[in-house]
Amino acid sequence: MSILIKNGLLITQNLERKVFYGDIFIENNFITEIGKNISVEADFKIDSSKKIVMPGLINTHAHVGMGLFRGFIEDLKLDDFLKKTFEMDAKRTDDHIYYSSLLSMYEMVRTGTTSFLDLYYSEDVISKAAENIGLRAFLSWVTLDEQYTTQKGSPLNNAENFIQSHKNKERIYPSIGFQGVYVCSDDTLLKGKEIAEKYGTIMHMHLSETRKEVYDYLKIKNKRPVEHLYEINFLNENLVAAHTVWLTMREIKQLGEKGVSISHNPISNMKLGTGGAAPIPEFMQNNVNVTLGTDSNVTNNNLDMFNNMKIAGLLHKNDKWDASVLTAQEILDFATINGAKALKMKSLLGSLEEGKIADVIIVDPVPNGIPLSKENVVPNIVYSIEGLNVDSNIIDGKIVMLNKKIQTVEFEKIIDYIQKII
Ligand SMILES: [Zn+2]
Repeated sequence: MSILIKNGLLITQNLERKVFYGDIFIENNFITEIGKNISVEADFKIDSSKKIVMPGLINTHAHVGMGLFRGFIEDLKLDDFLKKTFEMDAKRTDDHIYYSSLLSMYEMVRTGTTSFLDLYYSEDVISKAAENIGLRAFLSWVTLDEQYTTQKGSPLNNAENFIQSHKNKERIYPSIGFQGVYVCSDDTLLKGKEIAEKYGTIMHMHLSETRKEVYDYLKIKNKRPVEHLYEINFLNENLVAAHTVWLTMREIKQLGEKGVSISHNPISNMKLGTGGAAPIPEFMQNNVNVTLGTDSNVTNNNLDMFNNMKIAGLLHKNDKWDASVLTAQEILDFATINGAKALKMKSLLGSLEEGKIADVIIVDPVPNGIPLSKENVVPNIVYSIEGLNVDSNIIDGKIVMLNKKIQTVEFEKIIDYIQKII
């Protein structure tokens, strides 16, 4: 299968962050040519005049399995939120998790995401939904101490079995996750790290999300979470840590020194009243790779990465009383090339370049009356475009959505079924 996308305003996100009017030629899974006036025969042609063509967005922290909980766990402090979530989780069937995931993934595809990093149990069920809809799914099976879990069997064994059985699947990247230091002993963390090393996977966890988490930990360990994880040699360049709001400068430097990537979840943090703002400018000054995540659509309440980019910009400009903090280009990097780096896929994802995997979205700015030029396009992507402006979504060289219609699953039928099980 080959696809020729013509006449778009291309946001390459390459090393020079080049923006130009041109064409992209996709053969099978890869971008094989990018430039002006490409004239080759293709199986399928898309005219993208007056449209933006850009790398698909990368969401580095989600819980897609919670899609059907949206709007049901509201206005609660994180502790009560987690209590209610665990209660609801304990009663779930695989069918409920599958359709929750499919609903979340539908929203992701619809709003321009091509890759996401998930943290949940039952990732084997979630993986089936990803395979059916065609999303690129990085799935971290969540672990925690056995005394706290609602999972059947040992979470560490479940995670290892999941990695073993899913490591050779197309577009599925299994890995190990950790709920957080409040339910993970050092033993669980270090055994999990060994599993990650054995299979060469990334690690994914919630870290220093709330002040309470940090202060409770201080009482038990006499150390802040990142300080302790640094000392037990848990931190490394394979870790994606979500939230990371309550940190000292010493901890920020420790994350930078160890090459940890963080997933910034500005909307979820504000909705859960986390307080303050994650120290994003400080991370950037200290070599910490910053990426963006939505968290679940219970704490967001959507999975629209365009929305997430905008709120990230607003939060930090407001927090620092300084409009020059975080440029639009930096925020777009969080949601594309930095995400690819965190997932260890920088050579294959995150930008439009020859030889990279064809994860490409086409965005129509016209319905919002956005004037389009090379000079204003990046700020408009971050602050004006919404996910519903996305017209087409190509993942792995396959057209998953064309002209706003998902091609891979019959969503109208699925939504009827979902209404029955909600
Ligand atoms: Zn989360």
